[in-house]
Amino acid sequence: MSSKTALVTGVRGQDGAYLAELLLEKGYRVVGTGRRASDASPWRLQELRIIDDIELVSMELTEESNIRSVLERVRPDEVYNLAAQSFVADSLRQPIYTSDVTGIGTLRLLEGVRTILPEARFYQASSSEMFGKAQEVPQSEKTPFHPRNPYGTAKLFAHWSVTNYRETFGLHCCSGILFNHESPLRGIEFLTRKVTLGLAKYSVRGAGPLHVGNLDAKRDWGHAREYVDAIWKMLQLPVPADFVVATGTSHTVRSFIDLAAKACGIHLDWLGKGCDERAIDRATGKLVVSVDPAFYRPAEADVLVGDASRAHRELDWRPAIRLEQLAEEMVQADIKRVSRDRGAGI
Ligand code: NDP
Ligand code: GDP
Repeated sequence: MSSKTALVTGVRGQDGAYLAELLLEKGYRVVGTGRRASDASPWRLQELRIIDDIELVSMELTEESNIRSVLERVRPDEVYNLAAQSFVADSLRQPIYTSDVTGIGTLRLLEGVRTILPEARFYQASSSEMFGKAQEVPQSEKTPFHPRNPYGTAKLFAHWSVTNYRETFGLHCCSGILFNHESPLRGIEFLTRKVTLGLAKYSVRGAGPLHVGNLDAKRDWGHAREYVDAIWKMLQLPVPADFVVATGTSHTVRSFIDLAAKACGIHLDWLGKGCDERAIDRATGKLVVSVDPAFYRPAEADVLVGDASRAHRELDWRPAIRLEQLAEEMVQADIKRVSRDRGAGI
């Protein structure tokens, strides 16, 4: 068992909760950060039953003095920077705020580590959104970046800052370029959870229809619980390096909706094209899904699919959970929540 201290920023988020769970199993002292001003509830930590096992501290990535005092007080051996304004659609509405939190916020934390705890190891949550208008398919650690939104550009600034602190200052820091990863703990604004929650509401109480954007967008969706394992493994390497973490398969939004509907026992028939496309419940003829152009992205990252062969080779990491199983797990969790009508951000 480890006697190390880990500082996990954004511990009340999806990955923060699963990573905290993993680190506790490994014997770490886990200190997690959340914003005092945020109305975020610790529901994920409650669902995983780890809320009493971690120390929660208040930290805001836009406040340098706050970051420094947390580092001085906690003195972590490992820092996992998962905090971010992480929702692409909000980054289009709040580009400067997103850049400040997700981009410069990472630099503030890195600079704190460099000056206060240069021996600490540092993990950065980089994103496949940095590939954006993908220059090749699939994308690997060597693929050039071309972000398509302020979230992607902020993540890219943070990514290069981490590379720079490794090469210039010799910090033990690395970035995991993670492709989309989902779970029953995903935020309700993201596509997969929006779909599983919407279909659960339709199944349990006949609610609907669900309005979504681009049905043809393709993503490489994995399970968050498997991805935090790759995060931990990355930071244990003696020589820090960056890794793509992905399943290597991608699916359209439409096919994820089909899988989630199937998990609810619903067969969907798709009619129409473009903004008129919609899905009808074959059994009842009711409209279940319709397209709303408000959810379209102005510039879409069309086909994101990752080549994680370096992670297979050097981290001995391979995902095992298939998208059907992921959709089924998310749907079942949401049906339970909707039936008791509380919790999990609903
Ligand atoms: P979430 O959105 O679930 O969690 C992000 C956390 O960041 C929130 O819990 C929030 O904490 C915290 N946060 C937001 N703004 C600030 C701020 N100004 N200062 C301090 N903390 C802040 O994200 P995920 O868990 O899904 O993702 C984890 C990380 O991985 C993120 O950086 C994300 O961008 C990145 N990533 C995620 C992918 C995915 O598919 N999930 C793919 C690739 C990268 P609170 O509200 O509690 O204060
Ligand atoms: P992202 O890949 O980090 O932006 O994660 P999201 O879950 O927000 O989006 C995944 C994909 O689903 C993107 O290509 C979106 O354009 C697409 N999408 C289609 N309809 C919707 C919708 O209603 N909400 C969201 N969030 N995404 C949608």
